[in-house]
Amino acid sequence: MANELTEKYKAISPAEFFYKYKEIAGFANPARALYQTVRELVENALDATDSHGILPDIKVVIQRADPVQEFYRITVEDNGIGIPPDVVPNAFGRVLFSSKYVLRQTRGMYGLGVKMAVLYGQMTTGRPVEVVTSRREYKRIYFFKIRIDINRNEPVVLEKGSWRKQREWHGTIVSITIEGDWGKSKSRIKEYISRTAVVTPYANIAMYTPDGEIVLYKRIIDKLPRPPREVKPHPYGVDLEMLKMIIESNSQPTILDTLVESFQSVGEVTARDILSRAGIDPSANPRSLSDSDLLKLINAMRSYDQYRPPSTAAISPLGVEVITAGLKRMFEPEFVAATTRKPSIYEGHPFIVEAGIAYGGKVPLSEPDKPTILRYANKIPLLYDEGSDVVTSVVKEDINWDNYLITFPAPLIILVHVCSTKVPFKGVGKESIADVPEVRREIKLAISEVARKLRNYITEKQKELEAQRKVIYLAKYIPEVVKSIETIFAGDGVNRSEIISKLASIISAKTGIPENKIYEVINNVEIGA
Ligand code: ADP
Ligand code: MG
Repeated sequence: MANELTEKYKAISPAEFFYKYKEIAGFANPARALYQTVRELVENALDATDSHGILPDIKVVIQRADPVQEFYRITVEDNGIGIPPDVVPNAFGRVLFSSKYVLRQTRGMYGLGVKMAVLYGQMTTGRPVEVVTSRREYKRIYFFKIRIDINRNEPVVLEKGSWRKQREWHGTIVSITIEGDWGKSKSRIKEYISRTAVVTPYANIAMYTPDGEIVLYKRIIDKLPRPPREVKPHPYGVDLEMLKMIIESNSQPTILDTLVESFQSVGEVTARDILSRAGIDPSANPRSLSDSDLLKLINAMRSYDQYRPPSTAAISPLGVEVITAGLKRMFEPEFVAATTRKPSIYEGHPFIVEAGIAYGGKVPLSEPDKPTILRYANKIPLLYDEGSDVVTSVVKEDINWDNYLITFPAPLIILVHVCSTKVPFKGVGKESIADVPEVRREIKLAISEVARKLRNYITEKQKELEAQRKVIYLAKYIPEVVKSIETIFAGDGVNRSEIISKLASIISAKTGIPENKIYEVINNVEIGA
């Protein structure tokens, strides 16, 4: 009896939830938190630039913020679109507040990242987040100090102000002070920055470390990936709640018009077709439809197979040029190739898989059982949880590397980029991609494609080496043969160079080796002799 009465019921705010379970968002300890803070700030900075057609200039400064304790102040500055001042408090002080809850590929997607860093800073150092921001068209620059009221999940603005712009500037500067562990996290943080640079060769990225080091990646190409555009949902992804919300927010008088206006890939012909399959009158008022009508409609929408291919305007692949430029700059490989697969769809979400391959040159040797894998999702490098990522299982289980003439360890890097309006991440920390069959299949095809290119290159190279060996072997005898012929026809006015040129042309015809190559070898042999 007493036990039943002591059960305490209570609701908590999203801020309190993530404050309590910070580990699931990547804030398990000071080392991990420092890495995650840099990451969240850099990702927001990149979203504010390249997704809006701006070539990114990004500066990351990590400083010791206390002489005794391991406090670090992380400041990230971008030249992005900036944030309207009335939005700043919520953007940095309300968990699950975002401008990215739309169907458009972005690095952020949960409306959580920067707030986790703010919460962690609040818990460990008590210091608020500082934000300086301005949009291009503003005449003023705005400044804020904000903390989060955890119980209410509301921002508390501690200080704010603004000043007139002295020069053209737009962008955002965010500073957060947390307890960190630079010693334990520095290699990961540097790796994160360098892997980011691999896929953003169009960005200037500078990082100032607490050790006084400056890590600099200069822009090497001016071409940005096509920025993503917001799109309407695809009918394959529809469910009852979503359909109801769509109907409620749509003012069209008929269900026919509602479908055409609210979904991509649905024109009038398609909509009529679907409605007749569901047994619903196209002119029906959408708000008068019962749940069972709506469920029939959903079934018809999901099983319909005549849709136009899904719109890919919302996704922004890197492209072959960016991937190859990035890999070349970072690894100076002997061979590099990349591919962007055509768009596919899983559960109504369009996605594209890209792969890059870098081989030889300065590419470091891989582990003994697989190539070095660089994983990316929506342009974010994924560093942790490699073992549980679908990309890793494809590389290890679905690809027979013998077929591609590779034995490990090899100087081989495989880069895989999955981009989508919804990447199937395994957790909110965004470190690994779940094993979704459609995605897995595309990853396999993309890797096979670049691996085939590498095999062709290796085969060609082997052929060339083989040919060179042959020519060296044959050419060794030429001076001998020439001498014999000269002796036999001594006095008959045989011309030495004529004999050599005849022999060279015979060898060339039989072996396919160009004559000039043969002359080269003959000369070497003669000089050597
Ligand atoms: P998410 O990135 O998942 O949306 P965040 O908590 O990291 O969630 O950021 C919340 C919102 O704040 C973003 O959606 C964006 O609108 C805004 N924001 C954060 N940082 C920047 C920045 N550097 N430039 C422009 N907008 C930003
Ligand atoms: Mg974010």
